[in-house]
Amino acid sequence: MNEQAVRRAISSHKSVADPFRRDPRIVLAAARRRHLHRAPLGWAELGQPARDLRELRDVARRSAWWDTSALAMPDPVEVYFHAALIGYRVDDSSFYSTRKPSHTEREAFQIAKEMLLEPQPSLWVDRLDMPMFDSLRERVCALTPYFVVPDPQNRPHLIRQFWVVATGPDTVRWLALEVDSESRQTEEMRASDRALDASLDAEGVEVYRLAGWWFRIDPYRAIVEFFRAAGLLRRDARMHGEERLRTINDYICECCGNPMDRSEAHSIQDVLHDDSEFTVHYDCVGELQRGEGMPAGERRRIA
Ligand SMILES: [Zn+2]
Repeated sequence: MNEQAVRRAISSHKSVADPFRRDPRIVLAAARRRHLHRAPLGWAELGQPARDLRELRDVARRSAWWDTSALAMPDPVEVYFHAALIGYRVDDSSFYSTRKPSHTEREAFQIAKEMLLEPQPSLWVDRLDMPMFDSLRERVCALTPYFVVPDPQNRPHLIRQFWVVATGPDTVRWLALEVDSESRQTEEMRASDRALDASLDAEGVEVYRLAGWWFRIDPYRAIVEFFRAAGLLRRDARMHGEERLRTINDYICECCGNPMDRSEAHSIQDVLHDDSEFTVHYDCVGELQRGEGMPAGERRRIA
């Protein structure tokens, strides 16, 4: 058992209120239809990927390829400043000038980038059968954090991650990955999100809304669920733990009895022992194999 990992998991579990810990949904809303667009080409002339829907449309008929190797998280204040320059309504300057990246936004971007750049074999039960990330990586033309789209009042709304993914030699899909917080789960907020999603759908953008609280427990799984919901990754390959860990409350190590989270790709492992499968902390694998696991329901106390 790794005390530090357990303490971190205890605090991340505590940060999620009980109704959300019991909710198995990771993808809260998924686009109902796909839209194909002409490949966005022309960054050689522009110098950088489009940061807003209109810029994206402007270049959609020209030719070049995005470079996703130098991905960085932009400053949202600068993004709002850019939006104001290109004609968005930015009238409440105090809101726009104080916007900072949230921990969840950083985590979501960091993990998405990591999964695109490295195959992460320790995430999958069967390494020989893990999904073909190479082919996904080759198809991702852009991943832009804080992509700007207009809300119904023409104010800038920042999509948490905007993905442009090739479906053929000259067609792409535009995908919006939104990360929703617990505070957005009121009926009123959800209705306003649905209105925004419908207007984005009319523009040809597919919106996927993910539960932000899952990113505090298992950001890798949240990103994989986005890939699956968007049809970017096949569904049959199994991640460690996903069969048993249905809700956040299930993220309990079957060796030491303490909470788990997946802050690194290898943090949670499914292990065979005595003909049964156990889902345990990476650091508990050895103890389990030596037969030092706690009886079911009991917990090894941390000092
Ligand atoms: Zn453990």
